[in-house]
Amino acid sequence: MKRNVLLGLLIWGSGLTAAVCFAQAPAHPIVIQTSTILDGKGGVLKDRQIVIEGSKIRTVAAGKAKPDYDLRGLTVMPGWIDTHIHLNWHLDANNKSVSGGGKAEDMALATAADAWITLEGGFTTVQSVGSAIDANVRDIVAQGLLPGPRILTSLRQIQGTNGDPEALRALVRRTRQDGADVIKLFATSGLGAGGNQSMTDEQIQAVCGEAKAVGLRSVVHAIGDAGARTAVLAGCTSIEHGTFLTDETLSLMAQRGTFFDPNLLVLHNYLDNRQSFTFDQAVLDTLDKGIAPTEDVLRRARALKVKVVFGTDAVAGSHGRNAEEFIYRVRDAHDNPMDALMSATSVSAESLGLGMEIGTLAPGFQADLVATDGNPLEDITAVRRVVFVMKGGRVYRYQR
Ligand SMILES: [Zn+2]
Repeated sequence: MKRNVLLGLLIWGSGLTAAVCFAQAPAHPIVIQTSTILDGKGGVLKDRQIVIEGSKIRTVAAGKAKPDYDLRGLTVMPGWIDTHIHLNWHLDANNKSVSGGGKAEDMALATAADAWITLEGGFTTVQSVGSAIDANVRDIVAQGLLPGPRILTSLRQIQGTNGDPEALRALVRRTRQDGADVIKLFATSGLGAGGNQSMTDEQIQAVCGEAKAVGLRSVVHAIGDAGARTAVLAGCTSIEHGTFLTDETLSLMAQRGTFFDPNLLVLHNYLDNRQSFTFDQAVLDTLDKGIAPTEDVLRRARALKVKVVFGTDAVAGSHGRNAEEFIYRVRDAHDNPMDALMSATSVSAESLGLGMEIGTLAPGFQADLVATDGNPLEDITAVRRVVFVMKGGRVYRYQR
């Protein structure tokens, strides 16, 4: 009732504001009829109605209300979360990868376009790690003026070459002041360069320690074991890639609650779209040889009960196809389909510090929903057949 009064005032005050408010918070609840829900926590719910009020889920229960959307026959899940993407990397008119330089307006539009197709692909929250332009797109999407997922960004990537520990602490503080949601650092070199530790222990401790002190999470690029182990001991939030992690380091991560984000889509994308990148044959061979250890480390992480999140390291050529990561994990690495779905929902939400807001389909959570034609528990390729996408109570895709 209160909201109706407020909306009335807004309509009276400004047509534009009212239109935005209506789109984000309809005056009446939305009823969605479902036959199968995967709730993001491992639960399967049958024949429920989801009632949405404003941006949130009010109830999930059996009911006989006339539905606004009838999603029977589909599988309904919390909107998926990708914890590792590069939103601004895109293909230019000649199908070549662009990750920087060029005109700012081209980069802004390409980043916004990537955000839109990522949302259309079923991902309602992403963490971009990250580029300064992300913030412009994050903020305009958050206002409801452009379609896209909720965006968290690191704005930049911190390297060992950025200075001594004191300089790195200052850089973390500046990154927060610039509006970053998370700190991204490189503890090791890339896969192609061997993945050796590329920051001193003191530098890693300085970055993750200062991030924690200013209330930010820290996600760490780490290919080799030594850099990853130092990051885990330094209290960093998550290890990205982790290609060559030992069981000892994985056990330490399980003990300390460090999140793990192995990525397969990135390797396949580089190989499948090799003409768009500038890799020589030696690098391509190294990327190819990185697939088997990544599948293996995912299996070992599961066996050792590490908290595995869902990240794709999506770059040019991957945006909108983020769900392919599910297929690589389940079909090739033999991840359990329910585990893979929980990685992309409740576990990723927890890793982002948003575990009470997104990633679970239950009363009180944000109304972020994705529905697929087919049940991914039975056929993981169903994740390619996204039919319905809702973010914050607003429908962005519905094609049956
Ligand atoms: Zn990355």
